[in-house]
Amino acid sequence: MQVYADNAATTRISDAAKQEMILCMDEFYGNPSSLHTIGQKAAEKLFEARKTIAQCLNADVKEIYFTSGGSEADNQAVLSAAETGKLKGKKHIISTAFEHHAILHTLKKLEREGFEITYLDVHENGLVTAEEVKAAMREDTALVTIMYANNEIGTIQPIREIGAVCREKGIPFHTDAVQAIGHVKVDVQADNIDFLSLSAHKFHGPKGVGVLYARKGMRLFNLIEGGAQERGRRAGTENIPAISGMAVALKDVCDHMEENEKKVSALRDILIEELSKIPHSVLNGDREQRLPGTVNFCFEGIEGESLLLLLDAKGIAASSGSACTSGSLDPSHVLLALGRPHEVAHGSLRLSIDHYNTEEEIRYITEKVPEIVDYLRNISPVWEELEKGERAHVI
Ligand SMILES: *Cc1c(COP(=O)(O)O)cnc(C)c1O
Repeated sequence: MQVYADNAATTRISDAAKQEMILCMDEFYGNPSSLHTIGQKAAEKLFEARKTIAQCLNADVKEIYFTSGGSEADNQAVLSAAETGKLKGKKHIISTAFEHHAILHTLKKLEREGFEITYLDVHENGLVTAEEVKAAMREDTALVTIMYANNEIGTIQPIREIGAVCREKGIPFHTDAVQAIGHVKVDVQADNIDFLSLSAHKFHGPKGVGVLYARKGMRLFNLIEGGAQERGRRAGTENIPAISGMAVALKDVCDHMEENEKKVSALRDILIEELSKIPHSVLNGDREQRLPGTVNFCFEGIEGESLLLLLDAKGIAASSGSACTSGSLDPSHVLLALGRPHEVAHGSLRLSIDHYNTEEEIRYITEKVPEIVDYLRNISPVWEELEKGERAHVI
């Protein structure tokens, strides 16, 4: 059996999005900036996509900026708010220690330029509170950037409350919502969001395309200079097939949000229930405040990489931590932020499922994971020491 359980890394493109892309390549190949009919037909497609996406977020079309993906949107949001703050003498930013690297590395760059960053500690349940955000605010705070849902463990932050304290203090609020969009209901107005990043390939759209939502009145600075596309804020001829494919994919998941959420969270609960039965295992992140499809477990005495390879041999595609770091042997920065010890942070397994998965696939996973964990523990000298009591269990 082949089971794809790595949807937090990327998703396969939906048939509807793929068909839409082919249609755009065949029939809407014009440059939307051209004045002739072929160009204007492409411009209409672009506008349609913008309208669809704005509706899904409860935003205005003028607040949607197309980008090359989540990373670019994150970079532009953070750097824009930093630049705006700097012009007013504000050089302090609040974030968390477990953001995606698109945020963390951008913040590191700003630190080198003299910005001061407060990285809020994440509780063991993978959450921060609005009160903690409020307590970290200063006169010179230029931005609060906190992810909607974490890509490694799937916890959902209290975004609406955090947005409310930012509004109250007049501090711009950005959220990296790449893992949330298309999986849970996000409403930029109700959630008090000023900037938001999303990426199409995390909800069955194409790769290499995303959106930066910037609320009216929020100033954007350009990462890319050139033509006047995206109201002068992001130059480059628009990728109509990708943008339109993204809009079709987003509308599809937004139209079926409730039923997908119900189906996927029921499957996720089977995973949690069954994998929790493995001795010396722990679910990372809050049990309730989480995405419908993402679970992350630590199994004591297990190397994440070995577990992944053996799962792969059984046809199960999963991940340990984030795809961006799983090539390295560093323990996950997210699990370290939760306070998991180094030796445990190495041994994590992320399973990210969605509405493309079936119960049969989930049962296959819950059969194979315990078998492999058992096998690995049996051949592990560390496990032998733990069993003999020569070493203390940490989980
Ligand atoms: C995938 C991801 C990104 C990066 O998006 P790309 O479109 O791949 O650049 C950023 N943030 C989070 C939380 C993600 O999961």
